[in-house]
Amino acid sequence: MPFASLGLPPALLRGVRAAGYHTPTPVQQRAIPLVLQGADVVAAAQTGSGKTAAFVLPILTRMLDRPHALRALILAPTRELAAQIETAARDLARFTRLRVGVVYGGVNIGPQERMLRGEGVDMLVATPGRLLDLNGRQSVALDDVEVLVLDEADRMVDMGFAPDLKRILRLLPRKRQTLLFSATMPPALNEVARDALVDPVRVDLAPPSRPAAGITQAVYPVPRALKTTLLNDLLHRDDVSGVIVFTRTKRGAERLARQLEKLGHPVAALHGDRTQSQRERALRDLKRGRVQVLVATDIASRGIDVEDLTHVINFDVPAAPEDYVHRIGRTGRAEATGDAFTLMSPEEERDMKAIEHFIGRSILRVTVPDFDYKQRPAPHGDGAPARSRGESSHGRGHGDGSRGRGHDDRARVAAQPAAPAGPVHGRRPKRDAPGSRRRGRM
Ligand code: AMP
Repeated sequence: MPFASLGLPPALLRGVRAAGYHTPTPVQQRAIPLVLQGADVVAAAQTGSGKTAAFVLPILTRMLDRPHALRALILAPTRELAAQIETAARDLARFTRLRVGVVYGGVNIGPQERMLRGEGVDMLVATPGRLLDLNGRQSVALDDVEVLVLDEADRMVDMGFAPDLKRILRLLPRKRQTLLFSATMPPALNEVARDALVDPVRVDLAPPSRPAAGITQAVYPVPRALKTTLLNDLLHRDDVSGVIVFTRTKRGAERLARQLEKLGHPVAALHGDRTQSQRERALRDLKRGRVQVLVATDIASRGIDVEDLTHVINFDVPAAPEDYVHRIGRTGRAEATGDAFTLMSPEEERDMKAIEHFIGRSILRVTVPDFDYKQRPAPHGDGAPARSRGESSHGRGHGDGSRGRGHDDRARVAAQPAAPAGPVHGRRPKRDAPGSRRRGRM
């Protein structure tokens, strides 16, 4: 794919050629169109991936035909990185009239003040502390900033810049585009990200073996009526040995446990209606490997500490974002790595967005390549009460187009298209899909 097909204007394509770039790198291919569309982006790209041009080029494109003002602010942790970004941006902008500048600490502030107060710049690269100093001295106004980039954001937080970042966020217009580049998402950065980004799209080019916080999270968009079928599929993978499956309600937990039992999975249920001794037995059975799956509600999940869990699967998207964090906290403790999957029907997209907002990152959407998303739901598959054999129980009131159809007329009634809901930000081949990797016990 050539740079020309990414929607960049001629002046910038000249800059790209002059810089000696021929083909966009993967992060450039993914990020440039997203940034041009105005999306907030969280990208896990590393230095060396070509990430600087991935954000500089689309930002310059968006500024080309407007009057001069400080409209793009790029924050970086160190003077070296700031200077490097400025050099790259200046190079790429050399055939435009846009002005690029850099400010960082540890040097005399006077020349930086003169640069900002004199000609001014359209794009400013800055370290956070020096930017605040300059703002405090009324040398730079941030009211016109349309795009904010937080580069190597985890390093900025590691270096203690989180309070400065929060102060800078308060000085910027609320209506703006924000791009966050970071290899990891430590909790302090999550907080900043939550304030800074709106519905971010995730561009994840980090190796999947290095997930943030030790947990590989993935969302599986799936029609509601196919959730049990997809869950059954996921449970059959050979690395899925100790699993907690969460449902929103006690009834839902009971029902799902019965359905999974019928499908041949050793299973126990854990919820508020169970006696203490029943709960203890369920946990003991999971720990000893006598059951593969524990179906549980949120209340029951608090305080569960099972060492050998490989997966947490949310059969329902939790209504409260905090519950999501509690649920996935059951796996991936300390150094261990665990997978947390969420099955999301189209009706649940809003709740999922709220969760992503809460945790400050968007979660990868994954489709299972060999799963038939258009198949007719099996009788167990809708989360409705288990019924006797041959009696249809699916599609009731879920708007899945299968209302009232019996299992037996499957061949005659064409299935309603049931493509995975929501944007699929990432597809992985089966071998790499979260959960299809073999992993050690936790
Ligand atoms: P970065 O990850 O932004 O620090 O970039 C790493 C290096 O790759 C820099 O020296 C860039 O000049 C170079 N670079 C960036 N994009 C490309 C490209 N599309 N083709 C060749 N080199 C590139």
